Amino acid sequence: MNWDWLNSDLQRLRDEGLWRDVRTIKALPDGWCEVDGRRVRNLSSNDYLNLAHDPRVIAAVKEALDEFGVGAGASALVSGRSPWHERLETTICDFEGTEAAVLFPSGYAANVGTISALVSDQDVVFCDRLNHASLIDGCRMSGARMRVYRHDRLEILERELQKSSSQGRRWIVTDSVFSMDGDLAPLRELCDLAERFDGRVIVDEAHGTGVFGASGRGVCEHFSVEGRVAVRIGTLSKAIGTLGGFVACSRSVCDWLWHSARTQVFSTALPPAVCAAAVKSFGLIRSEPERRQRLMSLSGKFRELMAGRLSADGEGPIVPIRVEHPELTLQMSADLLGAGFLVGSIRPPTVPHRTSRLRICMTAACGADEVERLAGLLSR
Ligand SMILES: *Cc1c(COP(=O)(O)O)cnc(C)c1O
Repeated sequence: MNWDWLNSDLQRLRDEGLWRDVRTIKALPDGWCEVDGRRVRNLSSNDYLNLAHDPRVIAAVKEALDEFGVGAGASALVSGRSPWHERLETTICDFEGTEAAVLFPSGYAANVGTISALVSDQDVVFCDRLNHASLIDGCRMSGARMRVYRHDRLEILERELQKSSSQGRRWIVTDSVFSMDGDLAPLRELCDLAERFDGRVIVDEAHGTGVFGASGRGVCEHFSVEGRVAVRIGTLSKAIGTLGGFVACSRSVCDWLWHSARTQVFSTALPPAVCAAAVKSFGLIRSEPERRQRLMSLSGKFRELMAGRLSADGEGPIVPIRVEHPELTLQMSADLLGAGFLVGSIRPPTVPHRTSRLRICMTAACGADEVERLAGLLSR
């Protein structure tokens, strides 16, 4: 087989500084990791609250592993779910304050499955241009007419809503925290618009759950719009520290997703031990609010130190440092690694051309002195 056409495309990626290497790293407790034999601070992970290595979460997993084995074996509709799946659903309902919750194999699958199940090809879906790929894929797969808007220009969204024909339903789909810029969606304004134009809002709280809001329920809680948002989608793989996606919703939406969310119906259920980990993590998020308070104060301090150097104004633990050129971004992240910090270098196609950046994901495990040292290195 001749792959020359692929190889020339690959060479072009190398030439443009867009080549992506997958590094092998060893995660260590307390937000550290080992890269090439050296211990460095991991500021590229979304394990914001340092729960992935919490001994109590690990103990819960071991216990569930011994009792329920490693894999679920089939999708929940085919072979049933384990008591841990049921317990996790109840835990999510209690935590989120919703009637029902549905689990998915990942946050990606939750977004694609939920949107394509709820939105029909008669509908119009308004999608933020900076939404996560899984939301965009879900919107595309729904077959609905798609209108892309930007959350810094809501007057355009308003005009589009006004123009849209009323044949089907209108949906507004948004991230709660934009994952590459770290800013928050204007959820109050989006809910106002949805209410004026008979629309429904779907919010992806991937980076919100456990991090924002007085109880850690996310940006919907932070802006007090939980009752105005139709469906909240979350992931268990970021602040919760494990793996999986979930939808917190009404009983009707839950029943519908059990029948028509293809990424849930046709995919094997999460391993029971993963559910046990998530149940424990939600408990810790509730009982140890100091974790997110510390995360927020470290993030605020770092943002203050980096004022003027950020790609976007935002709030919370995702802090993008503007670099622009992809090669320089790679060079700077290599230098930072040498100085003991692992940070993400974000380049096209993940972000638009000339907006390459270093993406710092703060963790509650980081020391205040480390934050100062990192800011000092970045300011040079
Ligand atoms: C990470 C992420 C997802 C996907 O979640 P996974 O559980 O990793 O599949 C969805 N939406 C946003 C905004 C994300 O950042």
